[in-house]
Amino acid sequence: MSDIEENKNHENEDTTELNPPVDDAPSVILEYFEDEIQSSKPKVTEKLMTFYRLSKIDQELFEIEEEKGDLPDVIEKMREKVTEMEKDISEKQKLVIDLNSEKDKLTASNKKTEERVTKFEEQKYSAKNNKEYDDIMKTIDAGLQEMEGFEKRVKDLTNEIKAAIDSNTELTAKLEEMKNDLKEKEGTLSELDENYKSEEDEMKGNYDTLLKKLDTEDKNLYLRLKKMFKGEVTAIVRKGNCTGCYNSIPPQKVIEINAAEKVFTCESCGRILISEDVIKNNIES
Ligand SMILES: [Zn+2]
Repeated sequence: MSDIEENKNHENEDTTELNPPVDDAPSVILEYFEDEIQSSKPKVTEKLMTFYRLSKIDQELFEIEEEKGDLPDVIEKMREKVTEMEKDISEKQKLVIDLNSEKDKLTASNKKTEERVTKFEEQKYSAKNNKEYDDIMKTIDAGLQEMEGFEKRVKDLTNEIKAAIDSNTELTAKLEEMKNDLKEKEGTLSELDENYKSEEDEMKGNYDTLLKKLDTEDKNLYLRLKKMFKGEVTAIVRKGNCTGCYNSIPPQKVIEINAAEKVFTCESCGRILISEDVIKNNIES
């Protein structure tokens, strides 16, 4: 523990401790790199560790999300469907009201026409001449025709009203069923949320703090890779291999990665590569 702290405190000066020689690499190359490190290039260790810690958090968050499965998505879609169905039902209810009021108006008009026809039916017997009689008969015929039209429309309206009511009954039953199902799923999710809430809150807090340490360019790189790798943004370089994709990394590159002067991504998978030693020397506890 004290060794690690020592390294952390002096990471810019004590480069040999941080970057132990790699296997049997020729010493000239090592010297060359050590010189380079000491003379000019600043370390990006902290940045790499920030990537590494962010990635750890993201992986854990993704695991929690996996546990929740597609529940949040399913619930969201069901909520949308419920809203849609409720809208449908209320529109149909409004339609029934409108159709009923049209039907009432027609029934009233029909009644008036019927009364008029009855009146003329009586008048036809007291017609003074043929012309008057013909006129009365024409009026009666027109009235009867009007009534026929009214009756047909009223019949159509009655059918439309019945169809709307039937469809609403069916929709309402379906809606009730869906609401119950939704309630059950929401219950399951909120139970899961409760189980993980404090854990998630803490992780998200740490995540935000870490993310603020990165400049815009690094942040964008991280967030882009995060989407690609479900949070597994960094990969440890162990025994010359990328632990993200298990492809081997050229020895020269391994040395550079150990030197931690630049951010390297894996040529095969694209993850940010971090030397196992850099992590060992910089991870707390
Ligand atoms: Zn890789």
